[in-house]
Amino acid sequence: MPQIVLHVDMDSFYTAVEKRERPELKDKPVIIIEGPQHNLERGAVAACSYEARRFGVRSGMAASAAHRLCPDGVYLKPNHMLYEEVSRRIMDILRNYADIIEEASIDEAYLDITSSTPDYTTAEKTAREIKRVIKRKEDLTCSIGVAPNKTIAKIASDYQKPDGLTVVTSEEATKFLEPLPVDKIPGVGRKTTEELNSLSVKTIGDLARASKAVLVQRFGKNGAWMWDAANGVDETPVQEVEKKSIGRLRTLDEDTKDLEKILKALEPMIDEVHTQAQDEGFLYQNIGVTVIFEDYQTRSKSKTLREHTSSKQAIEETAPHLVRAFESDPRKIHRIGIKVANLKQKQQQYGETPLDKFL
Ligand SMILES: [Mg+2]
Repeated sequence: MPQIVLHVDMDSFYTAVEKRERPELKDKPVIIIEGPQHNLERGAVAACSYEARRFGVRSGMAASAAHRLCPDGVYLKPNHMLYEEVSRRIMDILRNYADIIEEASIDEAYLDITSSTPDYTTAEKTAREIKRVIKRKEDLTCSIGVAPNKTIAKIASDYQKPDGLTVVTSEEATKFLEPLPVDKIPGVGRKTTEELNSLSVKTIGDLARASKAVLVQRFGKNGAWMWDAANGVDETPVQEVEKKSIGRLRTLDEDTKDLEKILKALEPMIDEVHTQAQDEGFLYQNIGVTVIFEDYQTRSKSKTLREHTSSKQAIEETAPHLVRAFESDPRKIHRIGIKVANLKQKQQQYGETPLDKFL
């Protein structure tokens, strides 16, 4: 049966979240640097806003290089707990529209909507609604590709970024792909592109017309996969992926250093994290607390337990110790987060073992 797949990709996710949280950053080139706490110059660009890209700044670039290109940019440390929290809410929205959802990363997901969607007109409506709901609930934009498979959906979501929507039906697939450069195929990196170019294969159309046998000879299994992709063929299913952590993050009613107030704010979050872990059948072994200080600096502390557990008490007992580690810091706390990580699915009980195990 032909599939209809959506690829939803948030636009410049980290920096968009930062801008939403701090309106004074609107229209500014924002650059997020991952690296040693006290020496940003030694870090690398984890994300940059569209304004920063105009200066030539790119993800993965050394922080020092970014600084040379864009000396007046706003340089920030990443707030991972915050991004994870926003991501979780977005994935929850997406889940409402998908038969199967594959969270490909913190800010992108594939949705298989085949069973609920008779045609591309309906699929386009669904995509528009998703964009609207994410904008309304989270004040963030995304770009969506609608296509007959994952590869084309991903290429399509990138086609009109930001805030784009590109629909490619199965009939239009090869025509859509034909003029695009080969490196638009996700997974075709710089080295492969150079090698393809040296064979005079520049566009996806060139690749589609190349000999599959020659490509296999040159690139092995990847050659076959590339050729299929160029011809609009990709049968990789949309698949749920395992979660790595469950967390919550909240802004405190007021910035504070008062331990009691902070612990009080954590209580409902611990409750939610524990309930979600129970509902999804996870045991956890690692418990972590993240604080965001009044100056927006982020610090995290976590503890790994001796074994996996589903105990709420374990979180309740560990969290205060972790929070106390920040007591000596003179800054007030603005936001606080809790998470459980190192997740493992609970062993199935005997009675729940699928019947086919016995057949
Ligand atoms: Mg993105």
